Amino acid sequence: MTEVRSSQPLTEPTGAVVPSSVPTHWYNLAADLPEPCPPPLHPGTQQPVGPDDLAPLFPMALIQQEVTTERWVEIPQTVREIYALWRPSPLVRAHRLERVLGTPARIFYKYEGVSPAGSHKPNTAVAQAYYNAVEGATKLTTETGAGQWGASLALACSLLGLECEIWQVRASYDQKPYRRYQMETYGSVCHPSPSDLTEAGRAMLANDPDTTGSLGMAISEAVEVAAKDPNAHYSLGSVLNHVLLHQSVIGIEALDQLEAIEETADVIFGCAGGGSNLAGLSFPFIGRNLRDGATTRVVACEPAACPSLTQGEYRYDHGDVAGLTPLLKMHTLGKDFVPPPIHAGGLRYHGMAPMVSHALELGLLSATAIEQEDAFQAGIEFARAEGIIPAPESTHAVAAALTHARAATTDETIVIGLSGNGVLDLPAYEDYL
Ligand SMILES: *Cc1c(COP(=O)(O)O)cnc(C)c1O
Repeated sequence: MTEVRSSQPLTEPTGAVVPSSVPTHWYNLAADLPEPCPPPLHPGTQQPVGPDDLAPLFPMALIQQEVTTERWVEIPQTVREIYALWRPSPLVRAHRLERVLGTPARIFYKYEGVSPAGSHKPNTAVAQAYYNAVEGATKLTTETGAGQWGASLALACSLLGLECEIWQVRASYDQKPYRRYQMETYGSVCHPSPSDLTEAGRAMLANDPDTTGSLGMAISEAVEVAAKDPNAHYSLGSVLNHVLLHQSVIGIEALDQLEAIEETADVIFGCAGGGSNLAGLSFPFIGRNLRDGATTRVVACEPAACPSLTQGEYRYDHGDVAGLTPLLKMHTLGKDFVPPPIHAGGLRYHGMAPMVSHALELGLLSATAIEQEDAFQAGIEFARAEGIIPAPESTHAVAAALTHARAATTDETIVIGLSGNGVLDLPAYEDYL
C-alpha cells in the first residue's frame, strides 16, 4: 500500500475556513469553583504529583492543562479546523418527542453523534493527538471499552500522523467488532485486554484466565507500554481535567445556541461513565451559575449496574487495576470492581472524574442511576419520535429526561446530552427488542 505523506507537518493549520460558531477557547470550571479540586497523588509517595511524574506519559501542554486555573484556554487553530469538520454540533428541539410525551416542557438535545467516530470523544482525541504530535511523540497508546474512545483516538492519530496502539476490554473485543474495524481502517492496532503483551496483562490472565476484562485492566496495559517506550505517550479518553476541558466545546456551543433563540436551560441531563460528556455539556452552565447566579440544574445519569456517583465512596483510588496511575479523589466502586458486561460499554468505569465528583460533593450537580431496561425503552421512544438512534450510553440521559418531562407541569427547558449515535450498537437494541 502506498502511503501518501504531506510535505508540511500535519500539525500546521491548512487555512481552511472555520465558522465563528466553532469556539475559540475551552472553558475550565476550576477557575470558578468555590473550593479547589483535591489534587492527584503519587501512587508511591502519596504526595501530590508534579509535572515530572507525568512527563513520561503526557505532553507538557496537557500536564499544564491538567492543573491550570485559567478560565479560558485557547484552542489551537489546527484543532479548530478539525473541529469544523463536524462542529458546531446541532442543538435540536425535540418537538415530536414533546408531543408524544404530552409534556408542557421544551426538550432540546445537543447531538454529538455527528462526529466522524459517532460520539463526543473526538473533541478531546483531536486535541490530545495535536499536543502530542507538536511535542514530538510518534505514537499513542490507550485503552477502550466498547470502542468509541479507541475509534476516536484512531481517527485523531490518523489526522495528525501518529501511530496508535489500543487495548480493548475483552468482552467488547469479542462481542462488538465493528469499532475495531473502524480503528483498523484508521490505521491503528487493537489488542484484546488483558493480553499477554504486557506484564500487567499476563498477571491478570494468571489470576483469572477467563476474565472478560475491565477498563482498569486495559489502562494498566496501555500505561505500561507507553511508560517503556520513549517515543510513545499514553492518552485517556475521560476522567482527567484536560479531557473535561476539551469537551467544554459542547456546553459553550449549547449556551450560544440557546441564547440565540432566547432560551436558557432549566435542567440538563447527561450520561456519566467517566464524566467527560456530562462535564463538557454542563460545566459552562455550572460556571455561569457560580459567576452570574443562573440556576441551571445538572443531573448525571449513570447505569444502575456501575453506580459510582450514587453508590461509590468518595475517596482516593487508583485509575487502573495494577495501581500504576496516580491516586485520584473520586467517587469509586474500587479499582478491582468488574461491572457486569452491560451494553453501555462506555459507562463501565469504576470511578468518576475528580472534577465531577468534587462538583457533586459541592452540590453543583446531582446524580441518578438508571436500569438498563429503562434506558433502552427510552432510547427506542427517542428513536421513533426523533429519528436518531441514541448510543446505549446516551439512552441513560434520555431515560432520566423522559421521566422528568412526563412529570413536568410547567414549560421548563430540558437539555439532553446526546453523546453519540447507536448505529454501531444495533445488536444491543436487537437484544432488547
Ligand atoms: C464513552 C462514552 C460515554 C461515557 O464517557 P464519559 O466520559 O462519561 O462521557 C458516553 N456516551 C458515549 C456515546 C460514549 O462513547
